[in-house]
Amino acid sequence: MPKSYLQIAVATPLRKLFTYTSEQELSEKQIGARVKVTFGRRHMLGVIAAISASNTAPTAKLKAIDELLDEHNLWPEELWKMLNWAAQYYQHPLGEVLSTAMPALLRQGKPAKYPSQTCWSLTDEGQSIELDELKRAPRQQAIIELLRNHPSQADEAAIEDQSLKEQCPGCHDALKRLQEKQLICAHQTAGYEPHENTSSESGPELHEEQQLAVSKIIDRLGHYDAFLLEGVTGSGKTEVYLQCIQACVARGEQALVLIPEIGLTPQMIQRFQQRLACQVGVLHSGLSDSERTLTWLAARDGKLDVILGTRSAIFTPLAKPGLIIIDEEHDASFKQQDGFRYSARDLAIWRAHQNQIPIVLGSATPSLESLSNVQRERYQLLTLQERAGGAIPPTLHLLDMRSQPIEEGLSDRLHQVMRQHLDKDQQVLLFLNRRGFSPTLMCHDCGWIAHCQRCDTHMTYHQLDRRLRCHHCGSERPAEHSCPSCQSKNLINLGAGTERIEAALKERYPDVEVIRIDRDTTRRKGSLEALLEKVKDGRRQILIGTQMLAKGHHFPNVTMVGIVDADQGLHSPEFRAPERMAQLILQVAGRAGRAERPGEVYIQTHHPDHMQLLTLIHNGYPEFARVLLAEREETGLPPFTAMAIFRAEAVDRQAPLDFLRQVSEQLRPLASQQIQLFGPLPAPMEKRAGRFRTQLIVTAATRPALQQFLSQGLPIADNIKSNKVRWSIDVDPIDTY
Ligand code: ADP
Ligand code: ZN
Ligand code: ZN
Repeated sequence: MPKSYLQIAVATPLRKLFTYTSEQELSEKQIGARVKVTFGRRHMLGVIAAISASNTAPTAKLKAIDELLDEHNLWPEELWKMLNWAAQYYQHPLGEVLSTAMPALLRQGKPAKYPSQTCWSLTDEGQSIELDELKRAPRQQAIIELLRNHPSQADEAAIEDQSLKEQCPGCHDALKRLQEKQLICAHQTAGYEPHENTSSESGPELHEEQQLAVSKIIDRLGHYDAFLLEGVTGSGKTEVYLQCIQACVARGEQALVLIPEIGLTPQMIQRFQQRLACQVGVLHSGLSDSERTLTWLAARDGKLDVILGTRSAIFTPLAKPGLIIIDEEHDASFKQQDGFRYSARDLAIWRAHQNQIPIVLGSATPSLESLSNVQRERYQLLTLQERAGGAIPPTLHLLDMRSQPIEEGLSDRLHQVMRQHLDKDQQVLLFLNRRGFSPTLMCHDCGWIAHCQRCDTHMTYHQLDRRLRCHHCGSERPAEHSCPSCQSKNLINLGAGTERIEAALKERYPDVEVIRIDRDTTRRKGSLEALLEKVKDGRRQILIGTQMLAKGHHFPNVTMVGIVDADQGLHSPEFRAPERMAQLILQVAGRAGRAERPGEVYIQTHHPDHMQLLTLIHNGYPEFARVLLAEREETGLPPFTAMAIFRAEAVDRQAPLDFLRQVSEQLRPLASQQIQLFGPLPAPMEKRAGRFRTQLIVTAATRPALQQFLSQGLPIADNIKSNKVRWSIDVDPIDTY
């Protein structure tokens, strides 16, 4: 007779737990422990979700677990609760949720112990050797250089084996040679080694608004409270965070800080490490598996005081949670867009509430969700009106493009203003969220257009290598030299992307350095940093770029920003498009005039009378957001309703439609007055990467109503035959396609 019956969460797409047995008598404290199980014919990792001494299912078929990996719950109680809640709320299999919430080494079944790491450091000889002596062995030379330049936390610089091999691929033999020559040596570390407490720099004296914000927040340490810290870029939000974190750490508690991927720059990390006289752990995508595991465990064991990370850092276990901060809380990167589609911001709110600790959401352009929570008095609003250090906010102007001479997307008027700024030896930043040379290649004689064969969209022409690329599925091919339909050689490029504008600028401003920053110019490791460095040192430059320019960076010499095309956001079927457009415009605008000189922002549009644009320009973001919120309320859209989307896709057009039609029919009887179903309808871009996509939208008057509906409805949907169809549910989607 088995002693215990275990409900095991396994990382599969099935929304259920699996019963296994154990010969050992297990108790409550083993809930949350990892086990190895035989699942079908595979060996998989599972987590004990529940334990009982008896069982109602037929026992004959039950298998015993293969191995118990942990003595205790892997997660602290509060995080365990959040993960279970999240699985329920996002209607996602618990096994996959838990798998997302552990570092890769633990997912592979490695023991939850500090991984022992091989570290390399220079010997005295290695310190002093002339690099030239190694010029016949470039790899060895590179390793010595890396070790010399490595910022040392302690007295000697040591680089972990895995990270060294990532930075210097194929260096295995070179390491051996260097070790033989006694230029470097290896040693093993185990456990978390605290950093030397470097003397911390003190920050600027806070101005009145900042002080008020800090005192309100730290007043609530030890209690739940949610704050929305609204302040333009450069208004000193980060200074507020730093002071609150210090107060939190002084109480012996930990602070968790989430930042969008693009904001977690080396400068940001450095600022935190220099300013906080405590143990700061950083979780970013560049870490090796063992570094990640180390940080995860150190946070769990309370050895770290501050954890700074991107979206998935919300799953960092904390021994003594004290404060959560979400910077740029409106940023879309906090929502996971596939698989387990969680919102790190929303989970953070839940976690703060669960732990009775304060949470601070910071933004220059808060999401409508958060503003609505302020209106409902769920969040306290704290505002920073002034720019810290006395910088003057940029002025915004609309440039009417109608019947203006335009060349390569830029109007004469824009050029005039650019000239003025360049003549004063200042920098101009042009923003266009479209890379490549042109978004459409067309035959002038017959109208043929270069389409993507796998998506409902045009291919983008890239001039550098004369190739057509689809920005949605990644497929590419050489650009046609003549029209495949009528053989004409008269192919023309319609519209402009960053590559084309860069070319036009170089021609028009031969005396000015033009720097393009987009995914195409920053593919190589280190190239973005190199370009940014050039900008920082330079005068009289034109920067042209995409989103990559909009966020995070500080360009003190930029005094003018041009938004090349504001109309992209005005005509999207996506209901969040205007909100996104405004956030992006202001974010780009925030790059200008951060130093002594005030900045000017020029926005090119063919719709200078557009109410939303006018409101934004003349009345600012808060008023703009108020108007949008009123519209959302009137039209019954989030945040005034709760939304979920069923998405289905297949190679064949009909199958996803048929599937969602059945879902809709079978779920409709569950729908109360509070629930509305829209669709199924083809997605705005129906075909993508060779698959046809359909969606069924659910809106509910309240979140509990939506939860109830989905909890009852999903088991039904799970039972509908879905051959060939891949489908998913997205709760609180941020995109409706
Ligand atoms: P945000 O996070 O809102 O973009 P930061 O906190 O990064 O703003 O502040 C912008 C710049 O102003 C930084 O260089 C910061 O050191 C400086 N700063 C912030 N607060 C003050 C202050 N009270 N006095 C002087 N300088 C400040
Ligand atoms: Zn043609
Ligand atoms: Zn495509």
